[in-house]
Amino acid sequence: MWWTGLIPRRDLYRLAVAAALASPLVVPRFAAATQEEPFDPGLPEEPAPTPTPSPPPPYRPPFGGDPGPSTWYVSQWYGNTVFGYRSRRGLYVEGQGIHFGVDFSAPCGTPVLAIGPGQVIAVDGGYGSPPHNVVVRHSDGNLSLYGHLVERSQDVSYGQEVEAGDVVGRSGDSTARRTCDGNPHLHLEIRKGGRRVATNPVPLIDLNWEAAALGHLPFAIDLANPRQWQSIYHQPDITFGGVIINDYARVWPP
Ligand SMILES: [Zn+2]
Repeated sequence: MWWTGLIPRRDLYRLAVAAALASPLVVPRFAAATQEEPFDPGLPEEPAPTPTPSPPPPYRPPFGGDPGPSTWYVSQWYGNTVFGYRSRRGLYVEGQGIHFGVDFSAPCGTPVLAIGPGQVIAVDGGYGSPPHNVVVRHSDGNLSLYGHLVERSQDVSYGQEVEAGDVVGRSGDSTARRTCDGNPHLHLEIRKGGRRVATNPVPLIDLNWEAAALGHLPFAIDLANPRQWQSIYHQPDITFGGVIINDYARVWPP
């Protein structure tokens, strides 16, 4: 072409800029003051310390074997459940209106296991959850309560020491106590540092909880605060006899 050998104007401009940048004359006088970054030899950085793993939950499940439709499974969570909300002024009024344990459906007579080592401090004591119950005190001060047992426990007696996994009783039925054709389940509570406060067992028991629940077990939604208490892991402690905490003006499901 006719302009072969010439440098196009835009390339001249680029060359001029490059030359200016390369020239020591255009290095700012304060450059020395900015060159205080630490010497980087280009070596790989030290690996970040591995985070300390959080300890596993302290307790085991109250049944042996795997959960399943013919063995045992979670049928109601601890906390702000739909059934709890609807029973807030009835069955659960003493628990500030929420379900203050975890329910495990299981055939009547299924062996119920201590969730941790401890001492039996009640056999059919005044802890509710009839017709029969057993309570174990653990070394951390917590109590575990095994409720709706089918009969007075023949497996443990008052004052007995138990290990995690020892049989403490047999599961029963809260509604059809003789025939066991009503709502056979274990009601498991953990009471914190004494008997007045119930806490959520889910974070404290080493179990794949999602796999242990058959189907969706919903929580009541306060439409004025719809995110509150919707996780199986985050549910409030309750103090027995305290005020109802889920008296919502508008709720879902209605
Ligand atoms: Zn229950």
